Amino acid sequence: MSDSAENPDYQKLLALSHELALLQDTEALLNWDQETQMPRDGVAWRAEQLAWLGGEMHRRFTRDEVGGWIAACEDVGSEEGSDEEANVREWRHAYDRATKLPSALVEEFEKTRAIAKSAWAEARKASDFSAFAPHLEKLIDLSRQRAENWGYEDCLYDALIDDFERGAKSANLKKLFGGLRPELVAIAGEAFEREPVDPAKLAGEYPEAKQQAFNREVAEAIGFDFDAGRIDTAVHPFCTGLGPRDTRLTTRYDESDFRSSLYGVLHEAGHGLYDQGLRGDCHGQPVGRAVSLGVHESQSRLWENHVGRSRAFWDRWLPRAAEYFPQLAGLTPEEMCRACNQAERSFIRVEADEVTYDLHIMLRFEIESAVFAGDLAIADIPGEWNQRFEDFLGLKVEKDSDGCLQDIHWSLGIFGYFPTYSLGNLNASHLYAAALAQQPEIESQLGEGDYSGLLGWMREKIHQPGSRFLPTELVARAAGSPATPDAHLAHLRSRYLAS
Ligand code: ZN
Repeated sequence: MSDSAENPDYQKLLALSHELALLQDTEALLNWDQETQMPRDGVAWRAEQLAWLGGEMHRRFTRDEVGGWIAACEDVGSEEGSDEEANVREWRHAYDRATKLPSALVEEFEKTRAIAKSAWAEARKASDFSAFAPHLEKLIDLSRQRAENWGYEDCLYDALIDDFERGAKSANLKKLFGGLRPELVAIAGEAFEREPVDPAKLAGEYPEAKQQAFNREVAEAIGFDFDAGRIDTAVHPFCTGLGPRDTRLTTRYDESDFRSSLYGVLHEAGHGLYDQGLRGDCHGQPVGRAVSLGVHESQSRLWENHVGRSRAFWDRWLPRAAEYFPQLAGLTPEEMCRACNQAERSFIRVEADEVTYDLHIMLRFEIESAVFAGDLAIADIPGEWNQRFEDFLGLKVEKDSDGCLQDIHWSLGIFGYFPTYSLGNLNASHLYAAALAQQPEIESQLGEGDYSGLLGWMREKIHQPGSRFLPTELVARAAGSPATPDAHLAHLRSRYLAS
């Protein structure tokens, strides 16, 4: 067993992690600024800055000597369950991923992405899949080559998924989603029939400044620390970390409906609470980092949906909301809750409700799986998409801009990302149910608007471990078992079908 304080190679890796964190957080700051503050004409220089920083981080991490330090640490070994063990495991994984790709492939991938992105934007505008198809074909071919270089056990698509969700396998996802889909279709079918709350009851003005004040109160109540974070405005809401004590959220405002900014803030604050709950003493090291997108998304969906769309939430917050927005005084908490939980058939994933959202994801996952397995030709994607869409959601896709051209991901060469959204939903329900089962007092606390019990549980079980365990193990350790669709389906049934 080694003592990491005396292992010079481990110390060098810690120092490098610190340096890379400084660069990474600088990159995050430049990105945040670009989305929230930067004037239009700053874009060219900013792109150059970001490209340089990205290249610099890659050069520093992929030096031969870094590989030598990692190998030396592996030779010495580390104590089971220690920070050191997890750090070395994750450095090895990242180093192999970063060094296994020939630079010609990296360059061609970047070049193809840049061209494909604008080709996609044009194709979507014209709703013409055939204009995007050659770019997509090339990106898929290059992604295959990337996966081949990285290596995989069962199927090539797994190597791509691993970029976003460490250790996830498409065979497991297929099983998980297979159990979920027919149940979701059934719940959706019933939920569509439910009488919606009369929109006139929510009609009125929602001044931006008042929305900001209300959102801030809510974010503070759930535990977001404004001494270590802030909320700004951006076209596409996001959350980013600029350092161990600096978490930035963004949202957007619609002055005719306050729910859009509120749920944007609750979602992003969920991500932010995770970031604020990570161990600051090892910022930049794997053990101080969030473990995966599927776990990150579980935290955002937990606060947005399980907490923020619940009846208990509106019992507590409707009277306060009505002080800011007097038109809400005519609603009961029950009506407000239902107005925030309405299922609808819709084409666009990002606008989908909680019941139909995962159907959108499964459709994309099935299409990607089939393409990378060689079972689906590029030209056949629209037909396959539209057929499945009608099976899942009962809507006929009339144009590809409402169908397979709607998302930006493929144009950026991002394949294997979509499943993490559904993993986030399943993990959120699974973890929430486990927290309530292990600490029953959380439920009454939530009823009183006290969120500290639930946050404390997440802090201990999910935030503090960072990337010590792989995502599935982390969730299983926290909840006592790995995530299944059960808790999520129970949640949706009680939210959308009861009463
Ligand atoms: Zn999110």
